[in-house]
Amino acid sequence: MDVEQDIQYLKGIGPKKAQLLKKLGICRIFDLLVHFPRGYEDQSCITAMSELVPGEKAVIAGTITAIQEKHASRRSMVILTAMVTDGTGFVQITWFNQKYLKQKLKTGKKLLAAGKVEYAFGGQGQYGMSQLTSFEIFDADEEATADLGILPVYPATESLNQKFFRKTIRQLLEGIGHIGEVIPENIVKSYKLMDRDAAFRNIHFPESFNMVQLARDRLTFEELYLIQCGLMLLKKHTQEQKQGVRHRSNGYLVNKLLKLLPFSLTGDQQRVWNEISNDMESSVPMRRLVQGDVGSGKTVIAMLALLKTVENGYQGALMAPTEILARQHYEGFTKLLEPLGVRVALLSGKLTKARRETLYGELINGDINIVIGTHALIQDKVSFAKLGLVVTDEQHRFGISQRAKLERKGSYMPDVLVMTATPIPRTMTLTVYGDLDVSQIKELPPGRKNIRTFVRTPDRRELIYKFMRDEILKGRQGYVVCPLIADNEESNLLSAEAVYDELTHGIFRNISCGLVHGKLKQSEKEAIMQEFYDGNIKLLVATTVIEVGVNVPNASMMVIENAQQFGLAQLHQLRGRIGRGEYSSFCVLVADGKSQIARERMNIMETTSDGFLLAEEDLKLRGPGQFFGSMQHGMPDLKIADVMQDIDILLKARQAALETMNNRIDLDYVLPVLQLQYKEHFNTITET
Ligand code: ADP
Ligand code: MG
Repeated sequence: MDVEQDIQYLKGIGPKKAQLLKKLGICRIFDLLVHFPRGYEDQSCITAMSELVPGEKAVIAGTITAIQEKHASRRSMVILTAMVTDGTGFVQITWFNQKYLKQKLKTGKKLLAAGKVEYAFGGQGQYGMSQLTSFEIFDADEEATADLGILPVYPATESLNQKFFRKTIRQLLEGIGHIGEVIPENIVKSYKLMDRDAAFRNIHFPESFNMVQLARDRLTFEELYLIQCGLMLLKKHTQEQKQGVRHRSNGYLVNKLLKLLPFSLTGDQQRVWNEISNDMESSVPMRRLVQGDVGSGKTVIAMLALLKTVENGYQGALMAPTEILARQHYEGFTKLLEPLGVRVALLSGKLTKARRETLYGELINGDINIVIGTHALIQDKVSFAKLGLVVTDEQHRFGISQRAKLERKGSYMPDVLVMTATPIPRTMTLTVYGDLDVSQIKELPPGRKNIRTFVRTPDRRELIYKFMRDEILKGRQGYVVCPLIADNEESNLLSAEAVYDELTHGIFRNISCGLVHGKLKQSEKEAIMQEFYDGNIKLLVATTVIEVGVNVPNASMMVIENAQQFGLAQLHQLRGRIGRGEYSSFCVLVADGKSQIARERMNIMETTSDGFLLAEEDLKLRGPGQFFGSMQHGMPDLKIADVMQDIDILLKARQAALETMNNRIDLDYVLPVLQLQYKEHFNTITET
């Protein structure tokens, strides 16, 4: 069977079912194979009928001793009741309106059933007799035991229920034949992995819980191993294709900038800058991730690295996730670098066609030294004379393939620097950023005004907003962040629209306010942000769209409504928007912390300003799912591996992938697998 075929080619799947399955992301037959159970139900134990306990679930096995058929007058209902015994006692099972069963359920027939045990009190049952309710019946013949055991519990929906998935996947496994191996034999052996065929069979219909564990380990290893191989090949491939850039030791421009800066680098910045310099001076292309909390001063590091490439005669590119950020960087860069004779350009989606064309020309002939922009930078039309360094800011917004596209735009293999404010645990940097070295900036620049954080209950809102108005009347600006865009009936959380309405008709009547959220067009959003940036809007009511690095030093206050709704790391990112200037800054978390956990979380926000610590706390309190939800963007979805739990397997898989890189035969074996399973993600390696 070709598992790459559309799901519709599977027996028993019509167009309707196929449509529903596609909604769950199950498009190919293979996708069904990797629709892994989220848990299991143990129905491997058959209970003797004399031991049945009312109210508990049980599996029984027995012989039908009698069948009774009744007709209820209303709506001509047919009721079938079977009496079943196993020699120790009796159980009765009742079917409503399933007349066709009458042929199958014969006296003397063996039967297996699982369900909840109850005593019958009148009704159809015989008084005092055990009966099974909401039961599941397994084919009532000799092979019935095959249907028992540990049963998978799948992520299911109303229209595609457990029964459907169990049946369809069981059929698939029966019809599929032997499931072929994808990991080289010597890796399977030396890492003592379960056979792939056995793993798929045991993850769905396990022989025992021990086998579930082995199957899960094997499939997790497989997933992480293949992704690691892909990342390593991507790195190797791009490095082989083109020569890396070897920069000289720091020269005129870098030293000049260091003198011009109104501050000296912090210890952490200095260390990270040394690491980057060393990488850049080597002929092996740099692949480095700089993690640093909001406000830790990553921009100046990017600026130094870009200058270094310029003074060596190369061009540099800086990619930011939004127009506003790109513009902000552009302004900062121009101010400091134009006096040094460096030509900086902004490639914005807003440029006129003519201006854009000119800019493309200036990039190709090398007139521009540093170009700053958004996704506009990765368009096909953009190419460089001599691209030496690519910096991406807030990396998690870009996929690996987008990054790779920019890296391939020159005739050399450029150095690559990635900057992110989101603290990423080590497991994550290995899985998602498997091909990057990591530097951390933990220390904040000195003299930074502390952001004072307060947690307050909703009954204090009026006072809070009065205080905010006073701050604005003193010349400051402020943010209000809400969890929802618009009111909706299912939730009593505050929406940005409603709060904007409330404030602009009330206490902020005479103050210019703006509203920004994700439903606005990108251009509308950016226009409002620009107004706020320019100081024309004093109070900005927003959803989390303001999360990413906008720098408005005059903004000194932030109110976050329904703060308990947000992740700690996210709250920390949000409050990083204030405290960027010379003014004392205040962040008020409005929360009605009813649960213990909610209160604890808010208290941590009051006392901690360490983003790494907060991210860890978040992981502990909320689990990885929510934390990583938005970060997996651009990476293959992990079907089975858990980036928090599976660090041990990840390290082994990584080791194995390294071994594979050095083994031609194994590599030839793995390549077609990657081409098939991960073509969107590693397309640059599969092209050749
Ligand atoms: P982020 O890491 O969030 O991108 P930025 O690079 O925007 O942070 O830096 C935040 C602010 O700190 C900027 O105004 C920057 O000029 C300032 N800054 C950076 N490094 C230092 C330093 N070593 N000493 C003092 N101020 C610094
Ligand atoms: Mg930044």
